[in-house]
Amino acid sequence: MSSLQQTAYNAILGALAGDALGVPFEFKPGHDIPPAETIEMVMPHDYPKTYSGVPYGVWSDDGSLTLCLLESLLKHKGEFVRTDFENLVSSWYYEGRHQYGGRPFDCGGAIRHAIVSEYGAKQPLSNSAGNGSLMRTLPVALVGAIYNQSQECIAQNAFEQSLTTHANLLPAACCVIHTLLAHQLIQTPAISLQDSLGDAFAAAATIGRRIGGEALLGAINAVCAYKASEIPNGSGHAANSFWSAVSSLTHGNSYREVVRYAISLGNDTDTTACIAGGLAGIIWGIGDEKGIPLQWANELKMPARSIGILDALMSSDN
Ligand SMILES: [Mg+2]
Repeated sequence: MSSLQQTAYNAILGALAGDALGVPFEFKPGHDIPPAETIEMVMPHDYPKTYSGVPYGVWSDDGSLTLCLLESLLKHKGEFVRTDFENLVSSWYYEGRHQYGGRPFDCGGAIRHAIVSEYGAKQPLSNSAGNGSLMRTLPVALVGAIYNQSQECIAQNAFEQSLTTHANLLPAACCVIHTLLAHQLIQTPAISLQDSLGDAFAAAATIGRRIGGEALLGAINAVCAYKASEIPNGSGHAANSFWSAVSSLTHGNSYREVVRYAISLGNDTDTTACIAGGLAGIIWGIGDEKGIPLQWANELKMPARSIGILDALMSSDN
């Protein structure tokens, strides 16, 4: 097992734990979220969680679809095979793949539309600028690093996996930028977040124009400009979601602080914490003072199939 595989495992666990941690608070405004330091994987028994029937420690669509993308990429040694990924997404929606208890929940409108319209075969895909493709794109960077793929290759895979469910180029741009950012953090562990963000945007602009023309370049520039014009508030808009996750990373000095901050923004708490948690997992790993708390990792409810995919990730190589 090389350190790349361990880093990838830490990232996925960070994303899964962030999603599960945020599920009980989803849709609540920031002022209704408990104080950040009191947020735990298992809240007091009288806490009015968003999904009353979902046990603590269960991740939602974000975690499940991240695992579907990871499963597909590992199966094809890093190549993105669209039809295979579509089949796994449908398997989540109809059969509860990678979903504890087998009952998927929290499916966004664009993804549901993509599934029932058979990924554009029956009706055009939604033009939603939501964060449903951004929340799951992390494995592209992780598997790309393990298989020594170029930045261009992972940017292309991030772009294509977004278009599977979202016709809009803004989420695609977010996926390209986020994937390049995660890849940079993996490849250069000592780099600062600000430097890696600068590198990711520069690479996204150059590569984005090659893979998606002026339209994708325009969307990448729009994501960059969004930072100056909108306050990150944990909403489900892809650019807001991306900047909310980045903001969480700048407001915390450990995995625990970052995902708690992400949730304190309110609204799409599980997704913000999933995205921020994946990056925090790369930076701080598992355990010790700053990593993913072992207690939270132990409280995560893992389907057997998902454990199998994490095992496959740990034993993957090129
Ligand atoms: Mg969710």
